[in-house]
Amino acid sequence: MRLRILPKEEIPRMVQALMADYQVVGPKAKGPKFVFEPVADPSEMRLDYNITILSPKVVLQPPGERVATIRLEGKAPQVEPVVEVEPTVIFGAHTCDLHAIRLLDRAFSDEYPDGHYLERRRQTLIISVECLEPCDEHSFCKDMGALTVDEGYDLHLTDIGEAYTVHVGTEAGEAVLERYAAARAATDADVRRLNQVLSAKWPRFTHRLDFDAAELPAMLATAYEHPIWAELGERCLACGSCTNICPTCYCFNVLDSIALTQTEAVRTRRWDSCQLDEFARVAGGENFREARAARQRHRFFRKGKYLYERFGTLGCVGCGRCIRTCLVHINIVEVFNTIHSSA
Ligand code: SF4
Ligand code: SF4
Repeated sequence: MRLRILPKEEIPRMVQALMADYQVVGPKAKGPKFVFEPVADPSEMRLDYNITILSPKVVLQPPGERVATIRLEGKAPQVEPVVEVEPTVIFGAHTCDLHAIRLLDRAFSDEYPDGHYLERRRQTLIISVECLEPCDEHSFCKDMGALTVDEGYDLHLTDIGEAYTVHVGTEAGEAVLERYAAARAATDADVRRLNQVLSAKWPRFTHRLDFDAAELPAMLATAYEHPIWAELGERCLACGSCTNICPTCYCFNVLDSIALTQTEAVRTRRWDSCQLDEFARVAGGENFREARAARQRHRFFRKGKYLYERFGTLGCVGCGRCIRTCLVHINIVEVFNTIHSSA
């Protein structure tokens, strides 16, 4: 597809135009940090952000959503699905988060296609931005192969100074560019500038894993009884923050709330966390992953082995969010390097 050029001063106009037809969700400052939230004014959007607290997953799989209403009058309950979706543009997603969305796409369309996720995904356009600097010292996207992308977006922007280059990923992206933005065709000079910018970015990102991430599934296969799990289990507070902020974690719980009149119930689903004490508690009170050590092991196995075996892609994109958020400094890079060094 053709490469286009979008002058930077066009971005606010483009966002304003999109807002007439879509909910636009983009990176906004929140104190010293950044969050993906609906944009009320284009000036709120900060495409120069480093990393957001939560990924754009919040758009596609909200932390809490009503999924059905259940009428209890009559002989049998009547279940009416509820799909609360509106046309949305995710503006400014970074490359690691795009990789995470590709994993969510697979997870939610696999054996049991998830109508709520898939409808929201169908109505969501993604305009992403190429990362040119590491977010901070905790990023290890280069190790996880998430430093750049060639699919998964509708439009992909790269900052070349006064303007962005725009790669068009889909026909929907092409239509957005035609209708909402004043982009021009790229010249040879623009292409040269883009190549310079892209080749200059790679040395800025360093490797933090001491080994090739492709070794993770095999390495973990021999680490089920590793002493590190007991040590992590001692430290972990079972707060669930590391999974809640993770762009590739997608477990949820389903809850029914019955009205006092007992004529109607509302079914909701909310994010859940494998790190919570009660996550694996089942009927009869049995908890099949009761020890925190076992739950820590499960988290790291999921990132480095289980999702790879299921979907052919590792379950971590190296965003570093779990490292930044953990109150007891459990660090996925250190965990994997420790296991590797003792293998
Ligand atoms: S954020 Fe840290 S303390 Fe909290 S559940 Fe995760 S590993 Fe445990
Ligand atoms: S496991 Fe941690 S570093 Fe990997 S994708 Fe999840 S939050 Fe990011």
